Amino acid sequence: MSQNKWQELEQKLFLRTAYRVPVTLVRGQGAWVWDDQSRKYLDFVGGWAVNSLGHCPPVVVKALEKQAKILIQASNQFYTIPQIELAQLLVENSCLDRVFFCNSGAEANEGAVKLARRYGKLRLNGAYEVITTYSSFHGRTLAMTAATGQSKFQEPYIPLPDGFVNVDYNNVEAIKRATNERTCAVVLEPIQGEGGVNVPDDDYLRKVQNWCRGKGILFILDEVQTGIGRTGTLFAYEQYGVEPDIMTLAKGLGGGVPIGALLAKEEVSVFSPGEHGSTFGGNPLVCAAAYATLKYIINHDIPAQVKRVGSYFMTRLESLKQGFDFITEVRGRGLLIALEFNQEVAEKLVLGCLDRGLLVNKVKPNALRFMPPLIITEKEVDKAVDILRDALGERL
Ligand SMILES: *Cc1c(COP(=O)(O)O)cnc(C)c1O
Repeated sequence: MSQNKWQELEQKLFLRTAYRVPVTLVRGQGAWVWDDQSRKYLDFVGGWAVNSLGHCPPVVVKALEKQAKILIQASNQFYTIPQIELAQLLVENSCLDRVFFCNSGAEANEGAVKLARRYGKLRLNGAYEVITTYSSFHGRTLAMTAATGQSKFQEPYIPLPDGFVNVDYNNVEAIKRATNERTCAVVLEPIQGEGGVNVPDDDYLRKVQNWCRGKGILFILDEVQTGIGRTGTLFAYEQYGVEPDIMTLAKGLGGGVPIGALLAKEEVSVFSPGEHGSTFGGNPLVCAAAYATLKYIINHDIPAQVKRVGSYFMTRLESLKQGFDFITEVRGRGLLIALEFNQEVAEKLVLGCLDRGLLVNKVKPNALRFMPPLIITEKEVDKAVDILRDALGERL
Protein backbone atom coordinates (compact mmCIF):
# COMPACT_ATOMS: atom_id res chain seq x y z
CA MET A 1 0.00 0.00 0.00
CA SER A 2 1.35 3.45 -0.82
CA GLN A 3 2.15 6.05 1.81
CA ASN A 4 -0.81 8.13 0.71
CA LYS A 5 -3.14 5.21 1.25
CA TRP A 6 -2.16 4.94 4.93
CA GLN A 7 -2.55 8.65 5.34
CA GLU A 8 -5.99 8.60 3.68
CA LEU A 9 -7.06 5.83 6.01
CA GLU A 10 -5.80 7.71 9.05
CA GLN A 11 -7.80 10.76 8.04
CA LYS A 12 -10.93 8.65 7.71
CA LEU A 13 -10.53 6.57 10.85
CA PHE A 14 -9.16 8.81 13.56
CA LEU A 15 -10.45 11.56 15.76
CA ARG A 16 -8.55 14.62 14.67
CA THR A 17 -6.13 15.13 17.53
CA ALA A 18 -2.64 14.79 16.05
CA TYR A 19 -0.72 17.11 13.76
CA ARG A 20 1.09 14.46 11.76
CA VAL A 21 4.03 14.95 9.47
CA PRO A 22 3.48 13.17 6.11
CA VAL A 23 5.63 10.10 6.66
CA THR A 24 4.65 6.57 7.69
CA LEU A 25 7.30 4.91 9.84
CA VAL A 26 7.67 1.16 9.81
CA ARG A 27 11.04 0.36 11.35
CA GLY A 28 13.70 1.82 13.62
CA GLN A 29 17.23 0.98 14.72
CA GLY A 30 19.35 3.18 16.98
CA ALA A 31 18.93 6.82 15.98
CA TRP A 32 17.50 5.89 12.56
CA VAL A 33 14.01 5.10 11.26
CA TRP A 34 12.69 3.89 7.90
CA ASP A 35 9.39 4.73 6.22
CA ASP A 36 7.11 2.49 4.14
CA GLN A 37 9.04 3.50 0.99
CA SER A 38 12.30 2.32 2.64
CA ARG A 39 13.53 5.92 2.97
CA LYS A 40 15.86 6.43 5.92
CA TYR A 41 15.71 9.27 8.45
CA LEU A 42 17.89 10.42 11.32
CA ASP A 43 15.49 10.73 14.26
CA PHE A 44 15.87 13.85 16.41
CA VAL A 45 12.31 13.54 17.72
CA GLY A 46 13.03 10.27 19.51
CA GLY A 47 9.40 9.34 20.06
CA TRP A 48 9.03 12.69 21.91
CA ALA A 49 11.99 12.12 24.22
CA VAL A 50 10.92 8.52 24.82
CA ASN A 51 13.42 6.43 22.84
CA SER A 52 16.23 7.09 25.29
CA LEU A 53 18.40 4.23 24.02
CA GLY A 54 17.30 4.65 20.41
CA HIS A 55 14.91 2.46 18.45
CA CYS A 56 14.66 -1.22 19.34
CA PRO A 57 17.68 -1.19 21.68
CA PRO A 58 18.95 -4.77 22.03
CA VAL A 59 18.87 -4.72 25.85
CA VAL A 60 15.21 -3.68 25.86
CA VAL A 61 14.21 -6.09 23.10
CA LYS A 62 15.91 -8.89 25.01
CA ALA A 63 14.20 -7.98 28.29
CA LEU A 64 10.80 -7.79 26.57
CA GLU A 65 11.29 -11.14 24.81
CA LYS A 66 12.35 -12.82 28.00
CA GLN A 67 9.59 -11.36 30.18
CA ALA A 68 6.87 -11.91 27.55
CA LYS A 69 7.46 -15.63 27.89
CA ILE A 70 7.30 -15.58 31.69
CA LEU A 71 4.57 -13.21 32.91
CA ILE A 72 2.99 -10.23 31.16
CA GLN A 73 0.29 -9.00 33.53
CA ALA A 74 -0.81 -10.07 36.99
CA SER A 75 -2.45 -6.99 38.65
CA ASN A 76 -1.32 -5.22 41.78
CA GLN A 77 -3.30 -7.61 43.91
CA PHE A 78 -0.11 -9.65 43.88
CA TYR A 79 3.62 -9.13 44.32
CA THR A 80 5.57 -9.31 41.06
CA ILE A 81 9.34 -9.25 40.83
CA PRO A 82 10.17 -6.95 37.87
CA GLN A 83 8.31 -3.99 39.44
CA ILE A 84 10.04 -4.50 42.78
CA GLU A 85 13.46 -4.64 41.11
CA LEU A 86 12.69 -1.49 39.12
CA ALA A 87 11.47 0.34 42.24
CA GLN A 88 14.67 -0.62 44.03
CA LEU A 89 16.81 0.71 41.17
CA LEU A 90 14.89 4.00 41.10
CA VAL A 91 15.07 4.49 44.86
CA GLU A 92 18.78 3.61 45.04
CA ASN A 93 19.56 6.17 42.36
CA SER A 94 17.36 9.08 43.44
CA CYS A 95 16.63 11.11 46.57
CA LEU A 96 13.15 9.55 46.83
CA ASP A 97 12.08 6.60 48.98
CA ARG A 98 8.86 5.14 47.61
CA VAL A 99 7.43 4.43 44.16
CA PHE A 100 4.03 4.08 42.46
CA PHE A 101 3.92 2.83 38.86
CA CYS A 102 1.42 3.88 36.20
CA ASN A 103 1.32 4.11 32.41
CA SER A 104 2.00 7.69 31.35
CA GLY A 105 3.23 11.10 32.39
CA ALA A 106 -0.25 12.52 32.85
CA GLU A 107 -1.14 9.63 35.13
CA ALA A 108 2.05 10.06 37.15
CA ASN A 109 1.21 13.73 37.65
CA GLU A 110 -2.40 12.92 38.57
CA GLY A 111 -1.00 10.60 41.21
CA ALA A 112 1.37 13.31 42.44
CA VAL A 113 -1.48 15.80 42.81
CA LYS A 114 -3.68 13.22 44.53
CA LEU A 115 -0.83 12.45 46.96
CA ALA A 116 -0.35 16.19 47.58
CA ARG A 117 -4.08 16.60 48.26
CA ARG A 118 -4.03 13.61 50.59
CA TYR A 119 -1.07 15.20 52.38
CA GLY A 120 -2.98 18.49 52.51
CA LYS A 121 -5.97 16.80 54.03
CA LEU A 122 -3.96 14.95 56.66
CA ARG A 123 -1.22 17.46 57.47
CA LEU A 124 -2.14 20.91 56.17
CA ASN A 125 -5.67 21.56 57.43
CA GLY A 126 -7.28 20.44 54.20
CA ALA A 127 -5.11 22.51 51.86
CA TYR A 128 -5.63 21.35 48.26
CA GLU A 129 -4.52 24.07 45.85
CA VAL A 130 -1.59 23.34 43.56
CA ILE A 131 0.50 26.09 42.02
CA THR A 132 1.83 25.43 38.50
CA THR A 133 3.30 27.70 35.83
CA TYR A 134 2.39 29.24 32.50
CA SER A 135 3.92 27.49 29.46
CA SER A 136 4.13 24.29 31.49
CA PHE A 137 2.98 20.89 30.29
CA HIS A 138 1.75 18.21 32.66
CA GLY A 139 -0.49 16.01 30.51
CA ARG A 140 -3.91 15.71 28.88
CA THR A 141 -6.31 14.52 31.56
CA LEU A 142 -8.82 17.16 32.71
CA ALA A 143 -6.93 17.88 35.93
CA MET A 144 -3.57 18.02 34.16
CA THR A 145 -5.12 20.33 31.56
CA ALA A 146 -5.92 22.66 34.47
CA ALA A 147 -2.35 22.21 35.73
CA THR A 148 -0.92 22.93 32.27
CA GLY A 149 -0.72 26.71 32.13
CA GLN A 150 -1.43 27.14 28.42
CA SER A 151 -4.74 28.62 27.29
CA LYS A 152 -4.71 26.73 23.97
CA PHE A 153 -5.02 23.46 25.93
CA GLN A 154 -7.43 24.81 28.56
CA GLU A 155 -9.97 26.88 26.63
CA PRO A 156 -11.69 24.04 24.70
CA TYR A 157 -12.53 22.29 27.97
CA ILE A 158 -13.62 24.98 30.40
CA PRO A 159 -14.89 24.43 33.10
CA LEU A 160 -11.79 22.64 34.34
CA PRO A 161 -11.29 20.91 37.69
CA ASP A 162 -10.77 23.34 40.55
CA GLY A 163 -7.68 23.73 42.66
CA PHE A 164 -4.97 24.79 40.21
CA VAL A 165 -3.35 28.22 40.11
CA ASN A 166 -1.10 29.10 37.14
CA VAL A 167 1.66 31.68 37.65
CA ASP A 168 4.70 32.92 35.68
CA TYR A 169 7.61 30.49 35.30
CA ASN A 170 11.07 31.48 36.52
CA ASN A 171 9.48 33.94 38.95
CA VAL A 172 9.73 33.04 42.63
CA GLU A 173 7.75 36.10 43.71
CA ALA A 174 4.78 34.94 41.62
CA ILE A 175 4.77 31.65 43.55
CA LYS A 176 5.04 33.50 46.86
CA ARG A 177 2.10 35.74 45.94
CA ALA A 178 -0.04 32.75 44.91
CA THR A 179 0.66 30.80 48.12
CA ASN A 180 -2.07 30.90 50.74
CA GLU A 181 -3.59 28.67 53.45
CA ARG A 182 -5.23 26.49 50.76
CA THR A 183 -1.90 25.73 49.01
CA CYS A 184 -0.60 22.17 49.37
CA ALA A 185 2.04 22.03 46.64
CA VAL A 186 4.00 23.65 43.82
CA VAL A 187 4.54 21.55 40.67
CA LEU A 188 7.34 22.55 38.27
CA GLU A 189 9.26 21.17 35.34
CA PRO A 190 13.00 21.72 35.99
CA ILE A 191 13.11 22.84 32.35
CA GLN A 192 9.83 23.41 30.52
CA GLY A 193 9.85 20.96 27.60
CA GLU A 194 6.62 21.19 25.65
CA GLY A 195 6.38 24.91 26.45
CA GLY A 196 9.47 25.58 24.32
CA VAL A 197 12.53 24.25 26.21
CA ASN A 198 12.53 27.11 28.71
CA VAL A 199 15.55 26.96 31.01
CA PRO A 200 15.04 28.86 34.28
CA ASP A 201 17.67 30.83 36.21
CA ASP A 202 20.13 28.58 38.04
CA ASP A 203 18.74 29.53 41.47
CA TYR A 204 15.02 29.36 40.61
CA LEU A 205 14.38 25.78 41.72
CA ARG A 206 16.38 26.22 44.92
CA LYS A 207 14.47 29.38 45.82
CA VAL A 208 11.13 27.68 45.16
CA GLN A 209 12.21 24.64 47.16
CA ASN A 210 13.22 26.84 50.09
CA TRP A 211 9.93 28.73 49.93
CA CYS A 212 8.01 25.42 49.95
CA ARG A 213 10.05 24.09 52.88
CA GLY A 214 9.44 27.31 54.82
CA LYS A 215 5.69 27.08 54.23
CA GLY A 216 5.51 23.32 54.82
CA ILE A 217 4.03 22.74 51.35
CA LEU A 218 5.21 20.11 48.89
CA PHE A 219 7.84 20.78 46.24
CA ILE A 220 6.99 18.55 43.27
CA LEU A 221 9.11 18.17 40.15
CA ASP A 222 7.61 16.88 36.91
CA GLU A 223 10.65 15.15 35.39
CA VAL A 224 8.56 13.29 32.81
CA GLN A 225 10.63 14.88 30.05
CA THR A 226 13.83 15.97 31.85
CA GLY A 227 14.37 12.73 33.79
CA ILE A 228 16.36 9.59 32.90
CA GLY A 229 19.49 11.30 31.65
CA ARG A 230 17.91 13.71 29.19
CA THR A 231 19.57 16.86 30.56
CA GLY A 232 22.99 15.35 31.33
CA THR A 233 22.34 13.97 34.82
CA LEU A 234 20.06 11.05 35.67
CA PHE A 235 17.51 13.55 37.01
CA ALA A 236 17.58 17.28 36.25
CA TYR A 237 17.10 18.22 39.93
CA GLU A 238 20.68 17.04 40.62
CA GLN A 239 22.01 20.03 38.65
CA TYR A 240 20.10 22.56 40.71
CA GLY A 241 21.05 21.44 44.23
CA VAL A 242 17.47 20.60 45.21
CA GLU A 243 15.54 17.53 46.34
CA PRO A 244 11.87 17.29 45.44
CA ASP A 245 9.36 15.81 47.89
CA ILE A 246 7.68 14.13 44.93
CA MET A 247 8.99 13.48 41.42
CA THR A 248 7.21 12.12 38.36
CA LEU A 249 8.77 10.18 35.50
CA ALA A 250 7.55 8.63 32.26
CA LYS A 251 8.85 9.33 28.73
CA GLY A 252 12.44 8.02 28.74
CA LEU A 253 11.95 5.53 31.56
CA GLY A 254 10.71 2.58 29.52
CA GLY A 255 13.15 2.78 26.61
CA GLY A 256 10.10 3.02 24.32
CA VAL A 257 7.37 1.19 26.20
CA PRO A 258 4.65 3.10 28.10
CA ILE A 259 5.40 3.44 31.79
CA GLY A 260 5.03 6.25 34.31
CA ALA A 261 6.26 6.51 37.87
CA LEU A 262 5.58 8.67 40.86
CA LEU A 263 8.32 8.79 43.49
CA ALA A 264 7.96 10.31 46.96
CA LYS A 265 9.96 10.96 50.10
CA GLU A 266 9.10 8.74 53.03
CA GLU A 267 7.56 11.56 55.09
CA VAL A 268 5.07 12.55 52.38
CA SER A 269 4.09 8.99 51.38
CA VAL A 270 0.68 9.22 53.01
CA PHE A 271 -1.46 7.03 50.73
CA SER A 272 -3.27 4.16 52.43
CA PRO A 273 -4.08 0.92 50.58
CA GLY A 274 -6.99 1.47 48.20
CA GLU A 275 -6.63 5.25 47.94
CA HIS A 276 -4.91 5.10 44.56
CA GLY A 277 -4.25 2.39 42.00
CA SER A 278 -3.78 1.20 38.43
CA THR A 279 -4.67 -1.95 36.49
CA PHE A 280 -1.71 -1.96 34.13
CA GLY A 281 0.64 0.15 36.26
CA GLY A 282 3.85 -1.69 37.05
CA ASN A 283 3.05 -4.75 34.97
CA PRO A 284 5.96 -7.17 34.65
CA LEU A 285 6.43 -6.61 30.90
CA VAL A 286 7.00 -2.85 30.95
CA CYS A 287 8.90 -2.99 34.22
CA ALA A 288 11.35 -5.49 32.75
CA ALA A 289 11.89 -3.12 29.81
CA ALA A 290 12.28 -0.09 32.10
CA TYR A 291 14.68 -1.97 34.36
CA ALA A 292 16.84 -2.90 31.36
CA THR A 293 16.75 0.71 30.13
CA LEU A 294 17.61 2.29 33.46
CA LYS A 295 20.29 -0.26 34.29
CA TYR A 296 21.96 0.36 30.93
CA ILE A 297 21.79 4.13 31.36
CA ILE A 298 23.34 3.93 34.83
CA ASN A 299 25.97 1.27 34.08
CA HIS A 300 27.18 3.01 30.91
CA ASP A 301 27.01 6.49 32.43
CA ILE A 302 24.82 7.66 29.57
CA PRO A 303 24.15 11.00 31.35
CA ALA A 304 27.86 11.89 30.99
CA GLN A 305 27.65 11.08 27.29
CA VAL A 306 24.51 13.24 27.01
CA LYS A 307 26.38 16.13 28.64
CA ARG A 308 29.27 15.79 26.19
CA VAL A 309 27.30 15.24 22.98
CA GLY A 310 24.66 17.76 24.04
CA SER A 311 27.20 20.53 24.52
CA TYR A 312 28.83 19.60 21.20
CA PHE A 313 25.39 19.89 19.55
CA MET A 314 24.77 23.27 21.22
CA THR A 315 28.15 24.54 20.00
CA ARG A 316 27.36 23.41 16.46
CA LEU A 317 23.96 25.11 16.62
CA GLU A 318 25.53 28.30 17.98
CA SER A 319 27.84 28.47 14.99
CA LEU A 320 24.92 27.72 12.68
CA LYS A 321 23.17 30.70 14.28
CA GLN A 322 25.99 33.00 13.05
CA GLY A 323 25.03 32.25 9.46
CA PHE A 324 21.29 32.89 9.74
CA ASP A 325 20.08 36.18 11.15
CA PHE A 326 16.54 34.89 11.72
CA ILE A 327 17.80 32.41 14.34
CA THR A 328 17.36 34.27 17.62
CA GLU A 329 18.34 31.70 20.24
CA VAL A 330 19.83 28.28 20.93
CA ARG A 331 18.85 26.99 24.36
CA GLY A 332 18.56 23.82 26.39
CA ARG A 333 20.50 21.35 28.51
CA GLY A 334 21.93 17.98 27.58
CA LEU A 335 19.92 16.60 24.68
CA LEU A 336 16.83 18.75 25.20
CA ILE A 337 17.52 21.68 22.92
CA ALA A 338 15.52 24.32 21.07
CA LEU A 339 16.32 26.62 18.18
CA GLU A 340 14.18 29.77 18.08
CA PHE A 341 13.50 32.08 15.14
CA ASN A 342 12.11 35.59 14.80
CA GLN A 343 9.61 34.25 12.24
CA GLU A 344 7.10 31.40 12.17
CA VAL A 345 9.22 29.08 10.08
CA ALA A 346 9.20 25.92 12.21
CA GLU A 347 6.58 24.09 10.13
CA LYS A 348 8.47 24.75 6.91
CA LEU A 349 11.72 23.60 8.50
CA VAL A 350 10.16 20.37 9.78
CA LEU A 351 9.15 19.56 6.20
CA GLY A 352 12.46 20.77 4.76
CA CYS A 353 14.36 18.52 7.16
CA LEU A 354 12.00 15.61 6.45
CA ASP A 355 12.74 15.91 2.72
CA ARG A 356 16.44 15.70 3.51
CA GLY A 357 16.18 12.75 5.90
CA LEU A 358 16.00 14.34 9.36
CA LEU A 359 13.08 14.25 11.80
CA VAL A 360 12.66 17.28 14.06
CA ASN A 361 9.83 18.65 16.21
CA LYS A 362 8.04 22.00 15.95
CA VAL A 363 7.65 22.99 19.59
CA LYS A 364 6.28 26.45 18.74
CA PRO A 365 5.42 28.12 15.42
CA ASN A 366 8.80 29.85 15.69
CA ALA A 367 10.88 27.14 17.39
CA LEU A 368 12.23 23.65 16.74
CA ARG A 369 12.93 21.16 19.52
CA PHE A 370 15.55 18.40 19.41
CA MET A 371 15.25 15.40 21.72
CA PRO A 372 17.23 12.65 19.98
CA PRO A 373 18.04 9.29 21.57
CA LEU A 374 20.56 9.72 24.39
CA ILE A 375 22.98 7.41 22.57
CA ILE A 376 23.37 9.76 19.62
CA THR A 377 26.97 10.25 18.41
CA GLU A 378 28.87 13.41 17.43
CA LYS A 379 28.90 12.10 13.87
CA GLU A 380 25.10 11.88 13.87
CA VAL A 381 24.93 15.40 15.30
CA ASP A 382 27.15 16.58 12.42
CA LYS A 383 24.80 14.92 9.95
CA ALA A 384 21.76 16.58 11.54
CA VAL A 385 23.44 19.99 11.55
CA ASP A 386 24.36 19.62 7.85
CA ILE A 387 20.74 18.83 6.98
CA LEU A 388 19.48 21.68 9.14
CA ARG A 389 21.84 24.14 7.43
CA ASP A 390 20.52 23.01 4.07
CA ALA A 391 16.90 23.36 5.15
CA LEU A 392 17.59 26.77 6.70
CA GLY A 393 19.26 27.88 3.49
CA GLU A 394 16.30 26.88 1.37
CA ARG A 395 14.03 28.92 3.58
CA LEU A 396 15.91 32.17 2.71
C1 LIG B 1 4.93 14.58 27.96
C2 LIG B 1 4.82 15.20 29.29
C3 LIG B 1 3.76 14.86 30.16
C4 LIG B 1 2.62 13.98 29.74
O1 LIG B 1 3.04 12.68 29.52
P1 LIG B 1 2.04 11.65 28.77
O2 LIG B 1 2.78 10.36 28.84
O3 LIG B 1 1.84 12.16 27.39
O4 LIG B 1 0.78 11.64 29.56
C5 LIG B 1 3.76 15.41 31.42
N1 LIG B 1 4.73 16.25 31.82
C6 LIG B 1 5.77 16.58 31.02
C7 LIG B 1 6.83 17.48 31.55
C8 LIG B 1 5.83 16.08 29.73
O5 LIG B 1 6.83 16.44 28.92
